[in-house]
Amino acid sequence: MTAVPLDETDLRHLGRCVELAREALEAGDDPFGSLLVDGGGVVRREERNRAGAGDETQHPELALAQWSAALTPAERAAATVYTSGEHCPMCSAAHAWMGPGRLVYAASAAQLASWREGWELPAGPVRVLPVGEVAPGIETSGPAPELEDELRDLHRRAATRTSTSRREEAPATARRLGLEPHPEGGWYRQTWRSPVAVTLPGGRERATATLIWFLLPAGDTSAWHRVASEEVWLAHTGSVRIQLGGDGESPGEGETRVVGTGTGEETEVVVPAGHWQRTLPGEQDALVRCLVSPGFDFADFELG
Ligand code: ZN
Repeated sequence: MTAVPLDETDLRHLGRCVELAREALEAGDDPFGSLLVDGGGVVRREERNRAGAGDETQHPELALAQWSAALTPAERAAATVYTSGEHCPMCSAAHAWMGPGRLVYAASAAQLASWREGWELPAGPVRVLPVGEVAPGIETSGPAPELEDELRDLHRRAATRTSTSRREEAPATARRLGLEPHPEGGWYRQTWRSPVAVTLPGGRERATATLIWFLLPAGDTSAWHRVASEEVWLAHTGSVRIQLGGDGESPGEGETRVVGTGTGEETEVVVPAGHWQRTLPGEQDALVRCLVSPGFDFADFELG
């Protein structure tokens, strides 16, 4: 109904919603997180999406509306719901029925829909409608341009995440080594994370190093991506062709290096911090190890 500008407090709560969205994504659910803050400014309840196990109605906004039954009508009217993505019609209706007050979102339903369209994903089963069209009495604020890039990245990761059906078709090596589908393509499992932490400029705290298995089946590729740390590719079996893409805003096709133990191949290849890279298809399955230092964190990972 009414668009009220966002203030510092709103942005702080929305930042927490984005953190919850990230937690949801990393747990295999969809990247949405929400808070219910009472009239005194106290965060009464946090929720995140839990739809990954199969119940597609497990939206945090619906859970908060249901939880708010524990409050008095006056407390609900004074409360604010913060959420990383504008409500779907189901959650708009639940919000309106229960009557928690203002709604503040970081990304609008229209933004979410246009991102999905840009990634050529099919439309969802429920029509995309702004909250105001479902529940015209709810006062809304948003979006928050400050959080757009981070949210778009989370949704992109969710969109490129390998489906459960592909997990069931894991190659024998992936099953034997307990590897999971990697969002960039291929299969991986982290086997070691240094117990020693380091604080980086800007305040990021990371393990000093991490190590994974990475399996790239014959014919598979991984998408352009980059990591904020140096990455050392170590040959194990087979060979992987890595194309480097420079450290500009977007990747450019640069030289190709081959990690392997065969003639003319390199047993280790270092990809400099912040440089774009992708793998090109090979004729055989290749198994390598990737050592990242300072240690890998999905927050430092960017898809091209
Ligand atoms: Zn919803």
